[in-house]
Amino acid sequence: MKMERKSVWQHRSREEIESFARKYMEFIGKAKTERLAVKEIREILEREGFVSLEDFAGDPVDMAVYAVNRGKAIAAFRVVDDLRKGLNLVVAHIDAPRLDLKPSPLVEDEQIALFKTHYYGGIKKYQWFSIPLEIHGVLFRGDGTEVEIHMGNKPEDPVFTIPDLLPHLDKEDAKVSEKFKGENLVLIAGTIPLSEEEKEAVKTNVLKILNEMYGISEEDFVSGEIEVVPAFPPREVGVDRSLIGAYGQDDRICAYTALRALLSASPKKSIGVIFFDKEEIGSDGNTGAKARFYLRVLRQILKMQGAKDSEFALDEVLEKSSVISADVCAAVDPPYKDVHDLHNAPRLGYGVALVKYTGARGKYSTNDAHAEFVARVRRVLNERDVIWQVATLGKVDQGGGGTIAKFFAERGTDVIDMGPALLGMHSPFEISSKADLLETYNAYRSLLEDL
Ligand code: MN
Ligand code: MN
Repeated sequence: MKMERKSVWQHRSREEIESFARKYMEFIGKAKTERLAVKEIREILEREGFVSLEDFAGDPVDMAVYAVNRGKAIAAFRVVDDLRKGLNLVVAHIDAPRLDLKPSPLVEDEQIALFKTHYYGGIKKYQWFSIPLEIHGVLFRGDGTEVEIHMGNKPEDPVFTIPDLLPHLDKEDAKVSEKFKGENLVLIAGTIPLSEEEKEAVKTNVLKILNEMYGISEEDFVSGEIEVVPAFPPREVGVDRSLIGAYGQDDRICAYTALRALLSASPKKSIGVIFFDKEEIGSDGNTGAKARFYLRVLRQILKMQGAKDSEFALDEVLEKSSVISADVCAAVDPPYKDVHDLHNAPRLGYGVALVKYTGARGKYSTNDAHAEFVARVRRVLNERDVIWQVATLGKVDQGGGGTIAKFFAERGTDVIDMGPALLGMHSPFEISSKADLLETYNAYRSLLEDL
């Protein structure tokens, strides 16, 4: 029997697709940084009755708990049994490619005050020029007090931008990488001088305004994390309104669908979701998937359940656990279809994509999911009537990339990558299909329940 592609649009009600998409668009419009994503996710969890693991005092084999790692990563579990029987997990990342302000960002050049940035993750730099940008983040003042900064996300706010060179004076036929340099990613901060006499009077005026607004000084930026992201809301795309255009869908689309699946599932064994920071820069750092945070959380639950040697018990838990590494993949884009093996490439609207491996060259730097595990996953998807398709990341030797799957493989779990396909991934305006959004949720819920 031949394997056929199935259009989700032909098998799901438009109403169901639209109602899920509306709630997702609301979420993705607010969760524009990993800190804001944690805040939104935590609010949803608390509304649904989840409590912080620190505050949990009930039955340790019947718990709905969450734990936050430094405001930038979050894990949530529904424990229904002895954890040593293993867990079904869906894990995703909530960081996204962006620009970060440098530690000392503010300069004045030719009577314009500028914020210098350093890009985070894999961006095509030219995409960040001449678009409206907003900033979000935290600063810690000299006395240790915290101040949150959000500017550009409200209609009455000013926005920021990085102006591109006008075409009239841009005649040089240089490579894109030479035209759009990292050091040119500077945001306009202001143009009014405080006085005629003072040196760098425009920069001084910007600092004065920032001090009035937030009570901060120039040195406070050193102990800050200010992120620059696109300043436009999620929009429906296309005459048929089938698509969603928004910033940060890699990978908050997976975090959101996994969260909704966690909340609606009827678990037969313990289930959970973990949302990490730092995936876009290799998962290093103590809020990323390489860090020990989630292992500590699992060990704490094991201790609450009375495990004597929680270190050994943790190894048992991991070896019996099944993990869906929930991440997006690249959909076929007609003008650029040459980069794909079209026989193994996902199409928008044809369901959640099953990615056996990512990596580069001869399958370097990837988890290559075991056939046995792929078979289990496939059986659940088929039994639950989930529409899925196969995906690989481009033609052999075309390029490559990775996900957090390999870090779970390293800990001993079974793991496979799975998620919706996007167009324009890592751009300021990534495109997903409303149909795949719903089907990804259906897939994660089915797998949390039945794996
Ligand atoms: Mn991703
Ligand atoms: Mn990515």
